[in-house]
Amino acid sequence: MNGMFDLTGKRALVTGANTGLGQAIAVALAHAGAGIVAVGRSSMAETEAMVAGTGSSFQAISADLSTLEPIDRIVSEASAGGRVDILVNNAGIIRRADAIDFTEADWDAVMDVNLKSVFFLTQAFARRMIADGAGGKVINIASLLSFQGGIRIPSYTASKSGLAGLTRLLACEWAARGINVNAIAPGYFATNNTQALRDDPDRNAQIQARIPAGHWGKPSDLGGAAVFLASDASAYVHGVVLPVDGGWLAR
Ligand code: NAD
Repeated sequence: MNGMFDLTGKRALVTGANTGLGQAIAVALAHAGAGIVAVGRSSMAETEAMVAGTGSSFQAISADLSTLEPIDRIVSEASAGGRVDILVNNAGIIRRADAIDFTEADWDAVMDVNLKSVFFLTQAFARRMIADGAGGKVINIASLLSFQGGIRIPSYTASKSGLAGLTRLLACEWAARGINVNAIAPGYFATNNTQALRDDPDRNAQIQARIPAGHWGKPSDLGGAAVFLASDASAYVHGVVLPVDGGWLAR
């Protein structure tokens, strides 16, 4: 591993690491040498087996991030295994309905997981990073809907646009404290989150035709950006929302 991208000796906490993008990010960080703390509400067995293949350490913490209730426990259980140097806020949900019919329940559910819990989990780890003076890395998983409006996903667009703003605010407050706060904006990746789009033949064809790369992203396509933002290679990078989108936003 090239020194600049080497994460040996670091520990990375990844939320929603049981599947999809979170799993791929955890595996990429593990390949770069980081120990993984996988946080989520579902079994982490598959991710644990994949991380084991890299030789990096693995800890699972079971927690539902739809409320702030588990945050203190996540911090104490994760910290019992050593310092958390890298926090990847990946867990997220989406609800689809026309804006005109959208319910308060679908608004709150998405905002709570995608924005409120992200802020308070990040605050909790940043307090430790600032207290011990050793800095750290925060990587938020944003979206193309951090830049664009989309359709039929009002709370998702609000949450991901809010997350881009929050990324910039936290970068401004914490850059001088040695914490890099950045985000990755994945384009269209084949995961559970986008199953409904791929199941609709018309939407699927429209989306694929608009992607300059010509195909949906594979979760492993995110690994390089995650390692970059977790490593010394991004030491002077603060507050960016980095698209990994097959060229979608360039079009
Ligand atoms: P996914 O549905 O496969 O995974 C979402 C993850 O979040 C799962 O691990 C799930 O268990 C976890 N999660 C959801 N609610 C939770 C809760 N209350 N508590 C704990 N964990 C919870 O989807 P994905 O595509 O892998 O999504 C990962 C992230 O990437 C999300 O933030 C999503 O918005 C974002 N994203 C995905 C795409 C895409 O094309 N797939 C594009 C842009 C952004």
